[in-house]
Amino acid sequence: MLEVINISFSYEEVRALKNVSFILEKGKHMAIMGESGSGKSTLLRVIYGLLAPDGGQVYWQNSQVMGPNFQLIAGERSMKLVSQDLDLMPYISVGENIRQNLSAFDMESHDERIQELLSIVEMETYIDTKVKNLSGGQKQRVALARAIAQEPEILLLDEPFSNIDQFLKGKLRLQFFANLKEKGITLITASHDPEDVIPFTDSILVIEKGRILAQEQTKILFDKPRSRYIASLFGYVNELPIEILKDKAPAEDSNILIYPHEFQVSENSDIEVYVVNNHFKGSHYLIESIAKDGPTIYFNHPNAIKAHSQISLSIPEPLINKRMVSKNV
Ligand code: ADP
Ligand code: MG
Repeated sequence: MLEVINISFSYEEVRALKNVSFILEKGKHMAIMGESGSGKSTLLRVIYGLLAPDGGQVYWQNSQVMGPNFQLIAGERSMKLVSQDLDLMPYISVGENIRQNLSAFDMESHDERIQELLSIVEMETYIDTKVKNLSGGQKQRVALARAIAQEPEILLLDEPFSNIDQFLKGKLRLQFFANLKEKGITLITASHDPEDVIPFTDSILVIEKGRILAQEQTKILFDKPRSRYIASLFGYVNELPIEILKDKAPAEDSNILIYPHEFQVSENSDIEVYVVNNHFKGSHYLIESIAKDGPTIYFNHPNAIKAHSQISLSIPEPLINKRMVSKNV
């Protein structure tokens, strides 16, 4: 179990982490999500022991992770961090970069292991290429393979797929995360891309301006996000005044959060809108519309809808209570 207890950390002027505490069970996969500058990378560096916190402690399997002031080589040995600057050796080959991270024992199995690691990130054909000649996405893939070369107990990933093209990303994420689960490696991924996170994590830690807003199972957080900031991590969300539901509105001064895919188009329902614009999304259209009484509403629809058409939308009943948030959040 990883225990992060009351961590605070400041760069010279910036208080980057404020009393951060959470627990992660061994073998579980967690994401840290939050807007840019919220403290995700700083938190990973403190957990790994690269930055010494101003206050608080980190424990892994009941022993304390000592920071840079206590060890010669920074970084906890049972952990690996793939940071945004990747830390590869540019003038040697992909294969040799990985070899450097394999143990000094079992030398005869190294070639086979390098092949296996490179196949997980689809980089087998680059084994002899110098790292400096790779694209940003290819470097990221080598860094991922290198980080799991010696099967760490905990893997910390900082925006791991940010430079990898869409073409490969889907398959790569599936292969990489499945490999970690199979090996029982505990994982923390900092990311602002919901697609990196929703299918592959057991829970999400939400951070805003250095403070924890939520730690929740992924599905529960998506379903009952508690604030617009949290819901927005999963993509666009509509925040609408509750009165838009007319007589179905619970008599409270609140707003309601609804993702675009959740509206139903149905006749004679409470929310009448005029269609303004259609945005093609591949599998569906995102329709931009304006409700009669003001707010803009984005909803998904299988087909395009003619501009200026009048459409009637409804919100499924079970969502109404779960999605109310107070107006001033
Ligand atoms: P995130 O990874 O969520 O984008 P960071 O952990 O990188 O956030 O940064 C958190 C805060 O600390 C930000 O306000 C950022 O500007 C500041 N910060 C990050 N690194 C440094 C640094 N080396 N020196 C000073 N301030 C920093
Ligand atoms: Mg960062």
